[in-house]
Amino acid sequence: MTLANTLHQIDGSGYGAYKRISGTHRLTNDIELSVDRVQSDPFAPPSLIQVRVPLESTGIVPETLAGVGSVAAGDHLTRRVVRAIGEHAPHGGKTAGKLSIDTPGQQVLERTSVVFTNGPSPKVVVRMEAALPAQGRRIRGRAAATLLTKALPKVINQALLNISHRDLDDAVTLFADQIALREMLVEHDLVGFIADGAILPRAAGNSDVPAHQAVPFESPASLQRSFTLPSGRVLTGMALPRGVSLIVGGGYHGKSTLLRALEHGVYNHIGGDGREFAVTVDDAVALRAEDGRSVANVDIATFIRDLPAGTDTTRFSTTNASGSTSQAAGLMEALEAGATTLLIDEDTSATNFMIRDERMRKLVPREKEPITPLLDRIRTLWQDQGVSTVLVAGGSGAFLDVVDRVVLLDHYRVFDITSRAQQLAEPIEEQEPFPTPKHRIPKRLGPPKNQRGSNKGWQAKGLRSIRHSNTTIDLTALHQLVDPAQTNSIAAILRALENEVNGARSLTDLITQLFDKIQHDGLETISPFRGHPGRLAKPRPQEVFATINRNRSVAMLDPGPSTPEMPETESHPDQQ
Ligand code: ADP
Ligand code: MG
Repeated sequence: MTLANTLHQIDGSGYGAYKRISGTHRLTNDIELSVDRVQSDPFAPPSLIQVRVPLESTGIVPETLAGVGSVAAGDHLTRRVVRAIGEHAPHGGKTAGKLSIDTPGQQVLERTSVVFTNGPSPKVVVRMEAALPAQGRRIRGRAAATLLTKALPKVINQALLNISHRDLDDAVTLFADQIALREMLVEHDLVGFIADGAILPRAAGNSDVPAHQAVPFESPASLQRSFTLPSGRVLTGMALPRGVSLIVGGGYHGKSTLLRALEHGVYNHIGGDGREFAVTVDDAVALRAEDGRSVANVDIATFIRDLPAGTDTTRFSTTNASGSTSQAAGLMEALEAGATTLLIDEDTSATNFMIRDERMRKLVPREKEPITPLLDRIRTLWQDQGVSTVLVAGGSGAFLDVVDRVVLLDHYRVFDITSRAQQLAEPIEEQEPFPTPKHRIPKRLGPPKNQRGSNKGWQAKGLRSIRHSNTTIDLTALHQLVDPAQTNSIAAILRALENEVNGARSLTDLITQLFDKIQHDGLETISPFRGHPGRLAKPRPQEVFATINRNRSVAMLDPGPSTPEMPETESHPDQQ
């Protein structure tokens, strides 16, 4: 029986009868539908469906998908499906049913929404959802038949079977160029590059699209470099070398906007975004103060020691960090997660973590001040650990003594004022060596077994939180987490890691190995489902580390090097 017939037959039946459409259906010569998971009632999350189309029918040649091409093409086709749903299957109200697909933002990420299979008859696979229509709890079979056998083929026809190959090739070329540019940064000892003409400001605080009437980026002559990309495109722009860079300038002149562009430069952007060629080394981590967060056995002694209560800061744990301890922990954790560049904005930093001025040094003697500010560590962080910093600090001249270069923002224009700043700089005392970050060993990632109840494990709730039982991980501070599908992936990664954690392998080890597996077997390898992987987009390892570090239920073994057999001094596991 055809799908349409089945749906007509169950029209008016109880909602559960929708289960009968599970399985594979041929909709047209080119379009095969598989209904993977049928929702159990009209209010449950929508049913999961997949559409398969022969690659040949789309006109996409395998060369387009070579190398990173499949990621860019998958993103491009996902956007085409989003548009086609808007045109051919717009949401017609509560009872009408609805098609949907993961909707990408300004970043081009590897995702599971559209993928390509290899083999003798390669296919394009589209992962979507269908909210199956109901009247009360009764099936609206005719509406469902229209949705799945009429609207869906129209969507696929427009999105996949009538592709503009020029647009697709442009998207693939742009993506490959951005990746190549990011690789060139490393080759040329740079941390970031912003092309002339880039549009950095966004339309609004809650909108990631480019601002209208922005002043295009223009590089100062002294920092200008040109790069030839694989496509043949030649770019000129500001190249920011490794080391310590300071961004200064009056309030509201565009400092934070520039830093934010560097934060997001770890990702590739779609054509027209304005930040296509604003790129940063891919392990750069934005660091900020987050008072109230939890910290689990982090050695922050290089920044904070001799706390009044006698707390051992070489294995610092707290359920409620202060601004400065949170930022110190965040920095040490970022190093553990492999960051080679830190991005720090005075707007979101704890002042006492950043600086201590001369008069305060005189007033409060060193022995009475537990905090060694970043100012006193930033040079050896670079010299001993090779970690660069890009710092926005318009409020204090103290950093002038410790930086390699200074750029001034004036009316959104960048000037290299390094030599002028150097005339004002004063010699500094030699800084203490910066220690190598420790690699902590997790004993348990979730709440203890007896506190779990009947729970499905880690679940993402929107972009910035992940839940398990009664523990919530707050990801508000992770500005480099950009897509809810990345959060879904991190939740799936936590589930996958949970079984690997054994009290012997380091967090770094566990995460590195899982990312190797993703690289090898694809993002779907972390999906908790078979067949339809759900909405997953690839996160960076840095955000996975950061999530685990903010997990109040994690138990970290003591990393202390002086302890031969790793005693279990668990971080305070508390439930929210
Ligand atoms: P600062 O950190 O120096 O105080 P911001 O980066 O927060 O300044 O920018 C202040 C305002 O100027 C923001 O509303 C931002 O969107 C806008 N802005 C930043 N860069 C530009 C630009 N190149 N052109 C136009 N407006 C910009
Ligand atoms: Mg600012």
